[in-house]
Amino acid sequence: MGRLRRLRMRRSTLGLLAVYMFGIAVVRQVEIYAGAPEVDGDKDCSLRADGLPVPESHVVPMRDAPVLVEDRNGTVNDASCLDRTRVFGVVRPRQEEEIRESLQFASEEGIQVSVAGRRHSMGGQAFFRDALVLDMQGYNRMSLDEESGILRVQSGATWREVLNYLHPLGYSVEAMQAIDILTVGGSVAVNAHGIDHRSGSIASSIRSMRIMLADGSVHEVSPTVEPELFHAAIGGYGLLGVILEVELSLTNNEMYRFDRRIIDTADFPAIFANEIDGRDDYRLMYVHLSTDPTTLLQEAILYTYEAADFDEALPPLRETGYVRGGRFMLNLAKTGTSGERLKWFGQKHILPLFRQCSLSRNEALREPEACLVSRNQALYEGLDVLKNKLPDDIDILQEYFVPRPQILPFLDSMRQVLQDNSALLLNASVRVVHREEILLNYAKEDMFSVVLYLNQEVSPAGNEKMARVTGQLIDAAADHGGTFYLPYQLHYSRVQLERAYPEIDSFFALKRKYDPTLTFMNHWYDRYSEDSETSAETKYVQRNAPHPEPQVATVAMWAEGPESLPWPQLTSSGPRAPPWFRGGLEKGT
Ligand SMILES: Cc1cc2nc3c(=O)[nH]c(=O)nc-3n(C[C@H](O)[C@H](O)[C@H](O)COP(=O)(O)OP(=O)(O)OC[C@H]3O[C@@H](n4cnc5c(N)ncnc54)[C@H](O)[C@@H]3O)c2cc1C
Repeated sequence: MGRLRRLRMRRSTLGLLAVYMFGIAVVRQVEIYAGAPEVDGDKDCSLRADGLPVPESHVVPMRDAPVLVEDRNGTVNDASCLDRTRVFGVVRPRQEEEIRESLQFASEEGIQVSVAGRRHSMGGQAFFRDALVLDMQGYNRMSLDEESGILRVQSGATWREVLNYLHPLGYSVEAMQAIDILTVGGSVAVNAHGIDHRSGSIASSIRSMRIMLADGSVHEVSPTVEPELFHAAIGGYGLLGVILEVELSLTNNEMYRFDRRIIDTADFPAIFANEIDGRDDYRLMYVHLSTDPTTLLQEAILYTYEAADFDEALPPLRETGYVRGGRFMLNLAKTGTSGERLKWFGQKHILPLFRQCSLSRNEALREPEACLVSRNQALYEGLDVLKNKLPDDIDILQEYFVPRPQILPFLDSMRQVLQDNSALLLNASVRVVHREEILLNYAKEDMFSVVLYLNQEVSPAGNEKMARVTGQLIDAAADHGGTFYLPYQLHYSRVQLERAYPEIDSFFALKRKYDPTLTFMNHWYDRYSEDSETSAETKYVQRNAPHPEPQVATVAMWAEGPESLPWPQLTSSGPRAPPWFRGGLEKGT
């Protein structure tokens, strides 16, 4: 009897222990999926690049710079964490003169220069091997001309800083990205766009800009003053000059009624055309497409923000809540098909329960169901939900633009590509852009865009897979008369680039016109301007430099192997020859 009881007790103790251990494991797993990275700020990219090449360090003797150069011979990376690159150093200017002095120093020493904001482009667009990086984030002052309603802002300011400045003054921006941590300069240089379907991309809100060219001269440009430089610098990826200041037209900060509804994706074009497009009361709009494998891209949540009558003071801006819940939901999708289903279910049915509304008591009495949000609050969205502590994989953005009538057939092709490659899709959204008059233009007409947030393993195999998926999606977009967005990974060929951007050679020619010494450089230009002699020269220098070949973990390297360009005959008096160039040439000739 006593033995039986002891046996039972032992069993129940073991059972309890098992439940306890299971509970701990679940809590741990939840913490992993919901937690933020331990390093304060962005993820520590270097921890995540196992298996990818690490740049060698080398020291080039140099006279003292007239400006403070930090991180000498250090490395930088971008938001993809896959582009770790050795640089000469980083200058963080706060005054215009420091930018000029940096350019002069770089010119005298034969160093190339890259301009960087938050480095949230994902293909090395904001830096280059051994370049001096101008980190513009401290160059962030702004002022408002109340009479004209125009904001003059230095290019290193982030949209969050802009919204914090404008909110008490009753103003808002006309266009920006869907997140607010990015810089104004980085946004102009890619012609960013967000959730205001009426304005589309930022180009339409730029009144004028001040740009510093490589020789230190400052040009005040606008659609009518030096229009060529103006239209090339917007979406010009920092290759023509440093955008110093931007004048932006503003709109009122108003209260909006937020709404969401679940629709069949097939109904979206008609809903947009009949209910939203051209109706001024809808001020913001975007769509999330299903990431559930069973309804992939075929079901959608349509989010709208409609102007609401509101005669009280607008509430102050506040941080997005429930970050851990959102992050957990997103990362759940990485656990397999059930996780993907749960994530979409949660997006449809659970996240709305935690929706944050700025609701006044009066308004609540009048419209108990209304969710009211100010425009600035709707735009006040950080990146916290997207940060995570998962060590072996990374989340990658891509975006494709197609003429509006092509959106449904394109989504069919996109679904096929994603399924064929078993791609792990975390989020997909639809935005609206309009034709702009800039040179490197992704929107040749009014278009819908599809933004994908894809997960990939941090490994050569992960890079190869992403390269394959991207190549196929770019072809699918092109087959439907569409294009793709350039701030992301360099997973496309020169032919694909030309097909989407037939004006690419005119752009490269203008780059050489305004920056004949090719002072401004990034990995994107280096990779795609292969017809450019001096760019080829740059590559030649890198190959023949008397220090170990710098290693950059761009996916292109994995996908296509070493480039085999014909190298031109170089002369040591070449316009952009760094000090070690002569040695390299002498050795080679
Ligand atoms: C999580 C995430 C969400 C995103 N969401 C959106 C979105 O909703 N809509 C959208 O359109 N894009 C979006 N993007 C892309 C983003 O808009 C671009 O990558 C943008 O360039 C990032 O700004 P940044 O300050 O990080 O610029 P960086 O990445 O630092 O720089 C981008 C380019 O701008 C150039 N540049 C930067 N500052 C200057 C300057 N002062 N003068 C001249 N050139 C300069 C750089 O040389 C580089 O070529 C997103 C990216 C991420 C990672």
